[in-house]
Amino acid sequence: LPNDLRGALFRNEFEVYYQPVIDAKTARPCGAEALVRWRHPVEGLISPDRFIWLAEESGLMEPLGEWILERACSDALSWPENIKVAVNISAAQFRTGNLFDVILCVLAESGLPPERLELEITESMLLQNKESYGVVIQQLKNIGISIVLDDFGTGYCSLSYLTRFSFDKVKIDKSFTKGLSNRADCAAVVASVLTLARGLDMVVTAEGVETKQQFQLLRAAGVNQVQGYLFGRPVPLAELDFSALEQQWQAEEA
Ligand code: C2E
Ligand code: CA
Ligand code: CA
Repeated sequence: LPNDLRGALFRNEFEVYYQPVIDAKTARPCGAEALVRWRHPVEGLISPDRFIWLAEESGLMEPLGEWILERACSDALSWPENIKVAVNISAAQFRTGNLFDVILCVLAESGLPPERLELEITESMLLQNKESYGVVIQQLKNIGISIVLDDFGTGYCSLSYLTRFSFDKVKIDKSFTKGLSNRADCAAVVASVLTLARGLDMVVTAEGVETKQQFQLLRAAGVNQVQGYLFGRPVPLAELDFSALEQQWQAEEA
């Protein structure tokens, strides 16, 4: 794979899939997360867990990350205006020091309003170089982009990060969603994240929602947004159908 990866961007082998995000209160779609895939000529569709780290180590993550941002922003323009797009940002993109300029460029070229873009970063990324990353995060927030803390609760989880970087949103990791119905510790984590988020004025998304029971529990607990196979798997742009999703869940609610 490492050898194949080098030319994959040039050969146009990457694809961006989208997974819908649902507003928990209204059960209406409110966003979609961009998730990259690699269509390998021999191996078929390869999941990001298998190549993102390789791309980071080989220096490809910077151009690949930029390509994903361009794709996601231009795809999102075709969606209803209330639907935001979330893009995962790798540590490698932060390290270059020009992430802010890259994003300004991508927004200008695509025409997507910054208010419709969310950037997802993980805790582990913040451990590396707090000062300069904080500056970039603030610059991005200043122009209206939302910053999301992904996989919350799985990393080092220093609560001081939450106050230092003032995130707009936290995503509760799917491992907690999974244990919600049968593990008291998972329910306790979800409840305390919600308390924390309320105090810090952050939106809370739960990911990995696979059952109606999980959805009900999260909703009752006060989670703002939900995402998971229950609502839809990540799909290519052409298969993303917000109005079908809306109809389906309005019917479920009735
Ligand atoms: P992530 O950001 O936490 O993304 C959520 C992952 O959970 C996705 O896996 C998604 O397909 C999966 N998922 C969604 N709903 C469910 C569910 O109900 N149950 C279960 N079991 N899983 C669910 P995916 O697409 O394989 O991506 C894996 C990871 O790769 C992502 O985790 C993210 O860290 C990274 N990644 C994906 N796309 C990108 C990208 O464009 N850039 C960067 N830097 N990283 C990416
Ligand atoms: Ca994510
Ligand atoms: Ca996640």
